[in-house]
Amino acid sequence: MSDRDTIFALSSARGRAGICVFRVSGPRARVAAAALTGSGVPAAREATLRRFVDARGEPIDRGLVLWFPAPNSFTGEDVAEFHTHGSPAVIAALIARLGQMNGLRPAEPGEFTRRAFHNGKFDLTEAEGLGDLIAAETEQQRRQALRQMEGALRERYERWRDGLIKTLAQLEAVIDFVDEDLPRDLFDRVAAAASQLESEIELHLSDQRRGEIVRDGFSIVIVGAPNVGKSSLLNALAARDVAIVTETAGTTRDLIEVDLDLAGYAVTLVDTAGLRETSDAIESEGIRRARARAARADMRLAVIDAASLSLDPLVANTLSVGDAVLINKIDLGVSHESEVWTMNAETTLPLLYISARDGDGIDALISFLTNQVVARAGGSESAPLTQLRHRNALEATRDALKRAAVNLSHDHHAIDLAAEDLRIATRELGRITGRVDVEDLLDVIFREFCIGK
Ligand code: GDP
Repeated sequence: MSDRDTIFALSSARGRAGICVFRVSGPRARVAAAALTGSGVPAAREATLRRFVDARGEPIDRGLVLWFPAPNSFTGEDVAEFHTHGSPAVIAALIARLGQMNGLRPAEPGEFTRRAFHNGKFDLTEAEGLGDLIAAETEQQRRQALRQMEGALRERYERWRDGLIKTLAQLEAVIDFVDEDLPRDLFDRVAAAASQLESEIELHLSDQRRGEIVRDGFSIVIVGAPNVGKSSLLNALAARDVAIVTETAGTTRDLIEVDLDLAGYAVTLVDTAGLRETSDAIESEGIRRARARAARADMRLAVIDAASLSLDPLVANTLSVGDAVLINKIDLGVSHESEVWTMNAETTLPLLYISARDGDGIDALISFLTNQVVARAGGSESAPLTQLRHRNALEATRDALKRAAVNLSHDHHAIDLAAEDLRIATRELGRITGRVDVEDLLDVIFREFCIGK
């Protein structure tokens, strides 16, 4: 699959629609547009009504043609866009026609954006932002993705990397030209710059995963003994039948998830197998999955039956600060004695009273959950960390900067090691934006130090 190929794809969703959009990108886009319309390409970036014809000149449909000559296009290559009517038959005819053309082939998933990246239209974080924007289901996901697509993360990471390259260049100069007259406080300055960046990265990392929660959704797992009403609660919250409510204990053997939108934040609610001691192999597997899912959730809701008012130790063990306890089946008659559930001498959890069956307390529960999500995912800085990929690279950058600071300290003065640490840090930052290139470093050295030997 060569980059020189001309690629085409239906860029709008498949199905029946008023219009749909085809995109063709590559060196033969002009020829393809001319062949499809039976005339030359229209003026650049001007919507032009044309008839689309098949290989024999028979009409397929009529619609708009847009011509974006390189490099001012989405991919940076010649791009032609065809807006046709969105029927399955028109789509099939267009795909067949484009597929017959010499030098054209269907695009791979993400190939347009990939070409845009290779042609410098996007860095990786912007491309990821575009992907997130296309996938966005809630208002907060949309806002965050749009900011990222518009370069909020790129600007920050590139600024950090540019600073680091300058710092490294200063150190490289000492290594290569020790005999020259360099400022004696250079090590201190380099060490200070490394520590400064390290603390900025640390701050950026210690955000309680707000951006990642917005992107991936805040996950809430419902835990509890069998028959306390977990599935009924999920149904009440989702206001639709997603889990089967039965009267036989231990029937929810797998995880059932529903997605909610609370105040513009995506929330995934997971119903789990009831936790209890069991010898049934299938049920044990369900319980194992339930515990694993509960452990990596953002929050757990422990459900207790009003008839027993006891929290099984198996359930209590999954809970920690930030979780909540629900007393269900209050229709059976229970007094609202306390606002908190006391786990032990140190820990109390918020306590809410509900009837999953009658719907009592469900609105209060939804407000409570909404407040929790807003508090934990909202109010984040303008360019939050949004992905584990970035987090991993930033942690590696921070660790390398830490090592560099040690290697530069007065006891060590291990300049070569420190320079290598800074190189690693630079490379890790470059991996986030996709700009890993030693040429940058050479450029800076020659520009900033004017070493013309
Ligand atoms: P799970 O095993 O924890 O998922 O519990 P289910 O949701 O399957 O419910 C178990 C039983 O409790 C069913 O018979 C439900 O109808 C009943 N139940 C659930 N919620 C309530 C409630 O709020 N009040 C009463 N009276 N019964 C409930």
